[in-house]
Amino acid sequence: MNKDMIKVVQSKLNKMYRSTLVVDGIAGNETQAALQKVSVLPTEWSTERKLVGFIQHLATLSGIDAGPIDGKLGPQTESAYSDLVYKLAHGKLPAPWRQEEFTGDDSGQWPLQNEASMNAFYGEVGTNQGKANSPYPLKLAWDTDKIVNRFTCHEKIATAVERVLQRVLDHYGLEEIKRLRLDLWGGALNVRKMRGGSKWSTHAWGASIDWDPAHNKLKWNRSQATLASPEYDFWWKCWEDEGAVSLGREQDRDWMHVQFARLR
Ligand SMILES: [Zn+2]
Repeated sequence: MNKDMIKVVQSKLNKMYRSTLVVDGIAGNETQAALQKVSVLPTEWSTERKLVGFIQHLATLSGIDAGPIDGKLGPQTESAYSDLVYKLAHGKLPAPWRQEEFTGDDSGQWPLQNEASMNAFYGEVGTNQGKANSPYPLKLAWDTDKIVNRFTCHEKIATAVERVLQRVLDHYGLEEIKRLRLDLWGGALNVRKMRGGSKWSTHAWGASIDWDPAHNKLKWNRSQATLASPEYDFWWKCWEDEGAVSLGREQDRDWMHVQFARLR
């Protein structure tokens, strides 16, 4: 939660709840009191959680899919927030970003990124899921107190994922993994359509995994995304050796994301 987010909350509280807050990006007593008036936010939530919940509420009111109002600042809320800021500035939502469909020779180890190939190889979205066990403890990127040692993903990618993480552990060691934030797991299976689009994300098949989303946001390029730095070359080599694709390395966007679906 940064100051700009708090400013959005404060100015909206002023407009919608007739508060008279100074829009300074500091969640002091008056801002906390004003948040009490928002009935969708459970009173027992912390201030931080209420601020995030109010952003989710505002996004939902603006027709932006922010997911459930749970007060947790995950990738979906970050993305909804950036759309909300755009709408506040321009009066309309940004043009939807649509996942491209790739066609060509479909004889590779992994399917091409298009719905027909994905369905043929993986089955319907959300089906045939298995578990990948991590050889080192992972933290939920949006709730870093939560440790996960295994996560749901498509059963066909699970062993490849496990091989990658084992090589990563052997190469970097646990301390370095923590320093590089390679233990911040940002999600895999997510059965939902692309924002504003009609296409499934490759996450809908459980064929993609996100890593350290807070430092590798969807629209960031290599000048901002931490996973673009040379320290991570071995990390990406491990994935690429399994035939997985980094959208960051291929297209210089969505650096958090690695997928078992080919672009060509
Ligand atoms: Zn992703």
